[in-house]
Amino acid sequence: MNPKRFDYFAPESLNEAIKILAEKEDAKVLAGGQSLIALMKLRLAAPQAIVDLNSVKENLSYIREENGYLAIGAMTTHDEIEHSEVIKSKFTLLNDAASKIGDQQVRNKGTIGGSCCHADPAADLPTALMALNPTFVATGPSGSREISYEDFFVDTFTTSLARDEILTEIRIPYLEQRSGSAYIKHSRREGDFAIVGVGAVLLMDKSNVCKEARISLGAVAPTIIRAKKAEKYLAGKKITEEVLEEVGERARDGADPPSDMHGSREYRLDMIKVFTKRAIKQALGRVR
Ligand SMILES: Cc1cc2nc3c(=O)[nH]c(=O)nc-3n(C[C@H](O)[C@H](O)[C@H](O)COP(=O)(O)OP(=O)(O)OC[C@H]3O[C@@H](n4cnc5c(N)ncnc54)[C@H](O)[C@@H]3O)c2cc1C
Repeated sequence: MNPKRFDYFAPESLNEAIKILAEKEDAKVLAGGQSLIALMKLRLAAPQAIVDLNSVKENLSYIREENGYLAIGAMTTHDEIEHSEVIKSKFTLLNDAASKIGDQQVRNKGTIGGSCCHADPAADLPTALMALNPTFVATGPSGSREISYEDFFVDTFTTSLARDEILTEIRIPYLEQRSGSAYIKHSRREGDFAIVGVGAVLLMDKSNVCKEARISLGAVAPTIIRAKKAEKYLAGKKITEEVLEEVGERARDGADPPSDMHGSREYRLDMIKVFTKRAIKQALGRVR
């Protein structure tokens, strides 16, 4: 199917893009187009105007080590994240997640900003990101503001960005020494969306006691969630099989998975347990 008619804008600056968003009632930003164009073709989205970010002069595609955090530009592609050395060495779970998205064509065009703004609860990079306590930088008519990871995802396909705001950067605080991370995606076939996605970050002390655990879950609720009860239980413990069993149980708390053609609610609840345990084990194996 062809999309409904729309006006197309290719602004040359962020300011111009924001101005168009503010003026037009029903305008949508276009980044990699890997979600938006598909929705428009299916007529599940029919914006009156498209504001293409690909010509803006400001560079929104970068991975930069700043003082205290890693900065990722919103237009950085999945492929760039998958192949970044700094991400591989310091935030391995993002590398895991990016490499599991769709196929190479999708990874070449799709962006981390687009994936976050699309706010699909089954999306891989946003799920992995949520275990890293990121801050989202939104730029609008009155400048930039920071949005905490706890406030960014509001509901399925809904973020806390205003209509005339553009996500410009994602900031990820560095992890301490003796930390490890992993993202595991459970899907029917390679390249499918996750039935369950689990991100795990572990901060360990010298005697191998877990100081802090962060566990994010995708595809199991209307938005990506953190398994707070499991995180709390794991903190202060050595990671044994018995502890992992209990963590897996507790990770299900707060999940409200749907039943659909890819798996029943009960199946997904079981898979949360299985894949949480696996993600933690993999993160533990990567602690340095
Ligand atoms: C065949 C196929 C398979 C896929 N498989 C997976 C998968 O396995 N896992 C997965 O996680 N994803 C998958 N995706 C989705 C893919 O990751 C998309 O790249 C991503 O969801 C959207 O990124 P984009 O840059 O293409 O955004 P777009 O499609 O351009 O935009 C998506 C939404 O975000 C808004 N937006 C984009 N950028 C900004 C910004 N900077 N500020 C404000 N709003 C913005 C747009 O207005 C739109 O509403 C798949 C897509 C396809 C086509």
